[in-house]
Amino acid sequence: MFPKTHITIAAAATVVVTAAILMSPSSNVEAKRMSYALDLEQGSVSDSGASPLQAITPDSTAEAADSKGLEPDVTAKIDHQPGFSAPEQPAAPEQATLDWQTFEIKSGDTLSSLFREAGFNDGIMLSVIHGEGEAEKLQRLYAGETIRFATTRDGSLAAVELQRNLLETLRIAKDGENFTGETQLRKPEARPAFASGTIDGSLYLAAREAGLNDRLTMELAGIFGWDIDFVYDVRKGDQFEVVYEELYLDGEKFDTGRILSARFVNRGEENLALLYTDSEGDSDYYAPDGKSMRKAFLRTPINARISSPFNLQRRHPVLDVVRPHEGTDYAAPPGSPIKAAGSGRVKFAGWKGGYGRTVVLQHGDNITTLYAHMSRLGKGIKNGTRVKQGQTIGHVGSSGMVTGPHLHYEFRVNGSPRNSRTVKLPDAKPIPPSEMARFKQFTNQRVAQFDVFRERYQQVALASDD
Ligand SMILES: [Zn+2]
Repeated sequence: MFPKTHITIAAAATVVVTAAILMSPSSNVEAKRMSYALDLEQGSVSDSGASPLQAITPDSTAEAADSKGLEPDVTAKIDHQPGFSAPEQPAAPEQATLDWQTFEIKSGDTLSSLFREAGFNDGIMLSVIHGEGEAEKLQRLYAGETIRFATTRDGSLAAVELQRNLLETLRIAKDGENFTGETQLRKPEARPAFASGTIDGSLYLAAREAGLNDRLTMELAGIFGWDIDFVYDVRKGDQFEVVYEELYLDGEKFDTGRILSARFVNRGEENLALLYTDSEGDSDYYAPDGKSMRKAFLRTPINARISSPFNLQRRHPVLDVVRPHEGTDYAAPPGSPIKAAGSGRVKFAGWKGGYGRTVVLQHGDNITTLYAHMSRLGKGIKNGTRVKQGQTIGHVGSSGMVTGPHLHYEFRVNGSPRNSRTVKLPDAKPIPPSEMARFKQFTNQRVAQFDVFRERYQQVALASDD
């Protein structure tokens, strides 16, 4: 998919940038991160200079970086370009004749005290919260939220807005005699951004240097973590490139979204993962050939240390006789969530003798997994329930015959116990043939997008080598 020369150029560019950063951090960090307002879902990445979505050049990037230091807002230049819908605003005509008062809600504030501060008595407050629609939700206020009161010229209350966060506002407006409430949700605009780095110490450090936040770094490790152990397998010189979403409201970046595509070169071997949403609406990461990045099973259903390994010759700690240990024990605090190792159906959920409170999952025809000694079952877990990989199916406890709280986990193939730590795990389902044409079309666009970003990145990196 990527010719060797391409990778070599990327590596060279990265070295240049890294060396430059040591001497002059502020002017070169931008080479590691870029934002473009490409049309994500359409994947339009044409390099036409006429497109308003491509109003970026290495020069403009450097300029922005000079004026703003470490956080070059290279997208600012295209905020007012045609092609973006204007941010939603409260209706303008009504706005003009209303007088707005705004209060930050502090702990100790009550709805009554806020209404009073705005000049309205409890009677008016009651008529608002007893209004139609979602008006009653005004009673649930939290410190840190913002409340606004709109007053007409004659001094009567026209509307109350409770802004819960950047994306969610409860708006209650007078509609004839009554108030009517409605929750208004804003959808952030997602713009793809690019980060690239070479590992010197750890992925964490390199990712941080490349401008990725901790959540994106964890996600990146999670995408490739099925095949690459980020503690033992990663080597100095390994490289990553990530296209991810930056979320904007009114042209201001406020958060990051999903990783759209990622490339990780581990000991010279390239891995490419693309986020694909299938025709059913399910999203997952796939290699360009349609193979899932995931295995059908998690290696471990809980983040905890092994307290007793799989051992068919073991002497039982309670019974003190040779009794095979047909699973792996994980010591974890009571209540810790236990994940379904794979997607499947609940075959058993309940009390099972010495196993205590137990869940058994059936995966396909021949594999079952068992989770024992739970303190309680997960929400909605009962016989026949469908579960997804990673879903919480129960919580660690010490039910049944145990010496302390732990998870006992079994992996069985055709009924025989296998060591879950070493058994070869089947891959998760690839893209089905019926979906392949759609998938190919999509991934071609994503790979092209990746190439555009990488090219820009290299131009910027080389341009800063003066
Ligand atoms: Zn056990």
